Amino acid sequence: MPIRATKRGDQRTPLEGSHDVLVCGASFAGLAVARELAGSGADVLVIDRYEIGERQTSACGIPTEWLQRLGLMAAERQRFDTLVMHTPHGDARYRLPWTFSTFDYRELCALLWEQCDARFETAKVNGRGRPANGDGAIAVETDRGTVSAPLVVDALGWRRILGLGDGVQPAGARDRRGAAEQEQEHERPGERSPRGHHGRCDYSRRRALRQRRPDQRSDQ
Ligand SMILES: Cc1cc2nc3c(=O)[nH]c(=O)nc-3n(C[C@H](O)[C@H](O)[C@H](O)COP(=O)(O)OP(=O)(O)OC[C@H]3O[C@@H](n4cnc5c(N)ncnc54)[C@H](O)[C@@H]3O)c2cc1C
Repeated sequence: MPIRATKRGDQRTPLEGSHDVLVCGASFAGLAVARELAGSGADVLVIDRYEIGERQTSACGIPTEWLQRLGLMAAERQRFDTLVMHTPHGDARYRLPWTFSTFDYRELCALLWEQCDARFETAKVNGRGRPANGDGAIAVETDRGTVSAPLVVDALGWRRILGLGDGVQPAGARDRRGAAEQEQEHERPGERSPRGHHGRCDYSRRRALRQRRPDQRSDQ
């Protein structure tokens, strides 16, 4: 059972200012980016709504070589060289040309973070903010204030709420880690969930709605 470590209440002091790079999301992608930037001299701020490693986002199995190359072997838990499939009629075993390993999410994130020289803050990203001045920096609104940087990395997972355009899943889409809570947090007033009758996300319907002119929209 994960222990909640995210700062709450008075501990959530205002967060403002500008940085060279702002990495939003401190899981695999965000930490990998911050790791790459280590030693560059850039002032990098990484933010996530949870503490690093606090909320597991994956079943945590990857090729062993990836752990080796990233210096993360201490997080390895088990190693497998065979793919086993259990069916009602029996088991099938396939020898793999490489091994894959399971790893501890929290430990892997901590090990990645050790290789970074960035600063970390817990903050919930709400979306893009209005740029404070004309320096071309991108402003990001969080629950602790507006942070800006000329380079912002959206590593918020499949939501990618900072992205613009059609490639981005709608804000009300179901999250694999707590559908009801997430939906409440992200759904905008007056906006209906893009969900079909069976409770699944209906992205094609949502896209069609977006493409229709506002005066043609009868159900929004
Ligand atoms: C059930 C399941 C099992 C999986 N198992 C595996 C596996 O075994 N091996 C594998 O390689 N891949 C697996 N995957 C895929 C893998 O989990 C993803 O590819 C990976 O997590 C993507 O990493 P990411 O850093 O882009 O995003 P994420 O890991 O989703 O991280 C996003 C980060 O952004 C933060 N965040 C999100 N929204 C906000 C916000 N508004 N404000 C602040 N922070 C925010 C989150 O807290 C999180 O830390 C699995 C996926 C699922 C659904």
